Amino acid sequence: MTWLDLSPGDPYGIHNLPYGVFTRSEKPDEARIGVRVGDAVLDLHAAEEADLIESDGVLGDGDGGFAGRTLNAFMARGRAAWTAARTRITELLTDPAHRTAVEPLLVPLAEVTMRMPFEVADYVDFYCFEHHATNVGRMFRPDQAPLLPNWKRLPVGYHGRSGTVVVSGADIVRPSGQRRGTKAPTPSMRNARDSAPSPDPVFGPSTRLDIETEVGFVVGTPSRLGSQVPADQFAEHVFGIVLLNDWSARDIQAWEYQPLGPFLGKSFATSISPWVVPLDALSAAEVEALPQDPAPLPYLSKGRGPGYDLRLSVSWNGTVVAEPPFREMYWTPAQQLAHLTVNGASLRTGDLYASGTVSGPEKRQRGCFLELTWSGAEPVTLSDGAQRTFLEDGDTVTITGFAPGPGGTMVGLGEVTGAIRPAIAGSS
Ligand code: MN
Repeated sequence: MTWLDLSPGDPYGIHNLPYGVFTRSEKPDEARIGVRVGDAVLDLHAAEEADLIESDGVLGDGDGGFAGRTLNAFMARGRAAWTAARTRITELLTDPAHRTAVEPLLVPLAEVTMRMPFEVADYVDFYCFEHHATNVGRMFRPDQAPLLPNWKRLPVGYHGRSGTVVVSGADIVRPSGQRRGTKAPTPSMRNARDSAPSPDPVFGPSTRLDIETEVGFVVGTPSRLGSQVPADQFAEHVFGIVLLNDWSARDIQAWEYQPLGPFLGKSFATSISPWVVPLDALSAAEVEALPQDPAPLPYLSKGRGPGYDLRLSVSWNGTVVAEPPFREMYWTPAQQLAHLTVNGASLRTGDLYASGTVSGPEKRQRGCFLELTWSGAEPVTLSDGAQRTFLEDGDTVTITGFAPGPGGTMVGLGEVTGAIRPAIAGSS
């Protein structure tokens, strides 16, 4: 129950309460922390100034954790503070006694621009969906077993570039770079050997620009260098989730990725949704994780934690082209965290680790265009009749998501969107 004018089915009702950072049009430089409820944002900085809430949960101590321009200070306070803040916000939005004080602090969503919700510390991208890894293996290494021998032994990942993580709505400039060259065909070319790759690479704007539909996990509580974070400590460290698009230039990636993994084919941009949905809002979405065979090592199997029933949707210029199911994840987010720190690497507040491309067994559940079009061989037809294999300049991709909430409600995960701009004129 709430004194707000909310429909019971609102995916941004009291059961969700995601955190973000916003500006208002009259003060575009004044970023403020807020929490979304329905079609409004509760200004938490203003609520703190009015002594209605504090980011450590202790009213009256003036800690100022909601005064910042990012969620980092609040996230660093840890699970007890997150729970206290959520409890207090729920109280403010449900108890009619607070209505007079709180109502003026609600800003209509239509009047705000969303900003980066947190300063990204380190960014790691995993590769935890078996259908995706198998499909990509088949395309990139057709002469080998699709899954490499390590894939079911550890959650494969790489370190990405935190400085190029951008918030939803930011334009994506088509990257340029090297790709594998092919020999120019001549009339005498008759067999497959004649089309073997040329040793000389080609330079230019990527011609195989793709998306990856992912979910990002945001670390709040840091850990000490030289210590390990066990899988069962997941909820102590992870504050919440965002939707994430790991833009990928497949031609650059295919030429550069061996032997050290993805580099410039990925590092030009990664987009995230502006609302960080707290883990506390996702308890009804927890599902039993998929069985694992062979059994992983003890540090990965103990306290493995649940999977999550997150239902994602990908639209390409307004046409829904895929609905990847997050519950198909093989390595859980708790296992990813345990693996990330098993060597003693520390966590920092603001660390972001992403799940890897979400893909299911059906064709329509594939979370990237490489898989969806089978490396460009099977174009997708959009609702306006246009055909696509990879992204063209001017294209827009939007990923949205929902999760089951308590009592038959849905939890909105927001959206992450971006449009492709032409490559910059650069040197070769
Ligand atoms: Mn990825």
